[in-house]
Amino acid sequence: MKPLIYLDNNATTEIAPEVLEVMLPLLREGFGNPSSVYALGRQAAKVLEEARARVAALAGCRADEILFTSCGTESINTAVQSALALDPDKKHVITTAVEHSATIKLCEHLAQRGYEITWLPVDSDGMLDLDQLAAAIRPDTALVTLLWANNETGVLFPVHEIAEIARKKKTLLHVDAVQAFGKLPISLADSGIHFLSASGHKIHAAKGVGALYVNRRVKFTPLLRGSQESARRGGTQNMASIAGFGKAAELAAEHIGSRQVLDWRNAFEEHMLSAVPGCTVNGDRTHRLPNTSNLSFDGVESEGALILLDEQGLCCSAGSACTSGSINPSHVLKAMGLTNERARASLRFSFGRYNSAGDLARACELVPAVVAKLRALSPAGSPVLAA
Ligand code: PLP
Repeated sequence: MKPLIYLDNNATTEIAPEVLEVMLPLLREGFGNPSSVYALGRQAAKVLEEARARVAALAGCRADEILFTSCGTESINTAVQSALALDPDKKHVITTAVEHSATIKLCEHLAQRGYEITWLPVDSDGMLDLDQLAAAIRPDTALVTLLWANNETGVLFPVHEIAEIARKKKTLLHVDAVQAFGKLPISLADSGIHFLSASGHKIHAAKGVGALYVNRRVKFTPLLRGSQESARRGGTQNMASIAGFGKAAELAAEHIGSRQVLDWRNAFEEHMLSAVPGCTVNGDRTHRLPNTSNLSFDGVESEGALILLDEQGLCCSAGSACTSGSINPSHVLKAMGLTNERARASLRFSFGRYNSAGDLARACELVPAVVAKLRALSPAGSPVLAA
């Protein structure tokens, strides 16, 4: 088998060895329920609170503002429904056209239940018009819910400016930080953000664990009722994954200032732009996650490229992983005004700290070769090469 070149860290990440080390004893002998009163349970409760403190430290908030959930999607659903429960007369929700499917599906569901949803557009760089956002907020707006970092392009929304707008308009704000958490410095204390969602498996923890920040001044309504998490999220905690998430948060904090991933991403992108004719970067290049590169290759179908790259051991994505079974062009790229053809010709490469200089060198060889092969096979020939 060919060695794996994993450039799909926005889809999920491998578990860090240090994280696994924390998890395994909790799956073996340290299996206590943190709600139990005997020593085994008390030990689990201690582990739980240590993990909460570590996640809170990465988020820059108090530990009692962090709830553990089963995933980013649950955190998003909890935050949105909690905000809506606060005032049942407010039937308007603002979001954007480029959200993750977790938010899109939820908002579509809300629309069927009588809510009015404003889907804010983005420009060709994937950026929001903040005046338009401010103008969209009405007296009956229950919530603004939007991404911090786009999972497909890495483009960052200016959440602190958005929080300022929400504060002035006295509207609740939920930020989907599933891709930003652990990649960017975050300081939630006094940020004006009311809810923030994060997920373990994007930062080298296990799948099936998420976190929700709920500002302590905001009235909260649980999605899952039960006694755990101070009655804010019922269900016995997934202890091994939560402890691993805590460790992963601690490790992420250590790596957040490192330029390594950024340098690999930039070197890869520069190489593609110079070595491959008809290659363009999708999304604002300044306000962007350090690890993500979304590229279109004229005349190339991304599905074909994914298959050929996979044969060579290179994993990347066409659109977001959650919708990659579909042949529809990415809704994010479409919202940015790309033609269907260019949207279908796009690939997302997302680096992580377990990549190597060798991965970068191999990707710089493989991607241009695969693009050239597909263009040669295309019946119409490449528009770029024919031009
Ligand atoms: N939001 C964004 C921006 C994501 O990228 C993802 C996962 O891809 C999610 C939410 C959902 O997170 P989870 O897979 O933990 O449910």
